[in-house]
Amino acid sequence: MAQLASGIVDYAQRATSNENFRLPYPANLQMALNRLTLLAWHQGAPAPASVVELLHLAGNAFGAWKISLPDADVDPDESLLAYGRPTRTCEELGSLRGDVEGEIRENTLMRAVMDKARAADAPHSYVAFRELLIRQPAISALELDTRLGTSDLALLADEVRQAYEPVPPEAVADGVVRTCSGCNGLRLPLDDGRAWVCGDESCPAPGSPGTDYPASEGAWWLRRELRTFVTAPGRAELRIADLVAAMGVPVALWPDFDACDLSAFEERPWVVDIKAWRNPVRLARRLRERLFTVPEGAEKAFIVIGREQVKAHPRYVARLRKACPQVRPGQRVVAVSEAEFLRAVRKEAEARA
Ligand SMILES: [Zn+2]
Repeated sequence: MAQLASGIVDYAQRATSNENFRLPYPANLQMALNRLTLLAWHQGAPAPASVVELLHLAGNAFGAWKISLPDADVDPDESLLAYGRPTRTCEELGSLRGDVEGEIRENTLMRAVMDKARAADAPHSYVAFRELLIRQPAISALELDTRLGTSDLALLADEVRQAYEPVPPEAVADGVVRTCSGCNGLRLPLDDGRAWVCGDESCPAPGSPGTDYPASEGAWWLRRELRTFVTAPGRAELRIADLVAAMGVPVALWPDFDACDLSAFEERPWVVDIKAWRNPVRLARRLRERLFTVPEGAEKAFIVIGREQVKAHPRYVARLRKACPQVRPGQRVVAVSEAEFLRAVRKEAEARA
C-alpha cells in the first residue's frame, strides 16, 4: 500500500508539472500493480488489469475494494485519490505528509533557512520565517515587501522570496486574486468557473472568502511542498501556542532551532511534538519506529494530537496508545489530545503560581 501510495504521489506530481506527462508510469505504480495482482489471485478476487484501472480503483474507498488488504492500516472510508488528486491518506501512506519533520529537514530551502539563522544566532528569524509561511500561504506583493522590511525577516529575505512563486493564471479572474479566510491560501475556480474553492484539504474553513487582491499589483503563493509540510501542520502548532500564551504561560515555538514543536514554561519546560496524522494506527507505526528525542531538562514530554484529528476519529488517542505502548501514561512521552494537553497546562500553571 505504501508503494502504491508513493507511486500515486509521484504520478500526480508529474501530471501537474508543466511538462506533458509521458510514459512510463512511475515504477512504484507498476510494482504495486504486480503485487496487488498476486494478492488478488490468492484471494480469487478480480485484479486491476492495467495502471489505468489501478488508478481508477484508487479513487474508491477501501471498504469498496474487492481485494482485502491485511495490515494495511487504512479505514474503510479512506481512499487514495479524490477528484484525481492524492488524498491525505495517500500522502501519509506514501510517508510524505506523515513524516513532516523529516520532509522539513530534508527540504533544501528549509535547510538553508535553518543554517543561515543558526550561523547568525538568530532563532527569532527562524521562527518568523516559519510563522510567515503558516499564516500567509498567499500574500500580496506589497505585504510581502513590508514583511521583509521587519528586522527578523530581513536576514532571510532571499529565502522568503524563494519560498513563494507568482499566483498561477487560473487563480486570477476579472483581475482579482481570491483568498480563503480559513487558511489565507488561494481559492481556485471549479470547472464551471462559478464556484471558488480552497484546495487545502486541512483548511479549517474552506468555503469562506478572504481578502481579494488586485492581480495587477502582484500576488504570491507559497510553493506546494511548503504548503504541505509547513503550512498545513503548522496551523495546529500556532493555535496551541496561542492558547497556551493566552493562559499567561511562557511558550516558545520550534525552540532551539526546532528541537521540538513547542515548549511551555520557562523553567522545567514541558515539550511537545504536535502530530496531524489522519490515522492513529499509521501514526503509532511511525512512533514505534522513531519517537522524538526529549530535550535535556524537560520536565514532561507530550505527543499532542490536534483537535481536527480527534474530532474525525473520536477514539483517536485510545487507539494510538493501544497500538503504541511507548506513549501510554507513565511513559517518558505521553500521547494526549489537544484539549487534554491544554487542561494539564492550565492546572500546572495554577500549581506553579
Ligand atoms: Zn482555506
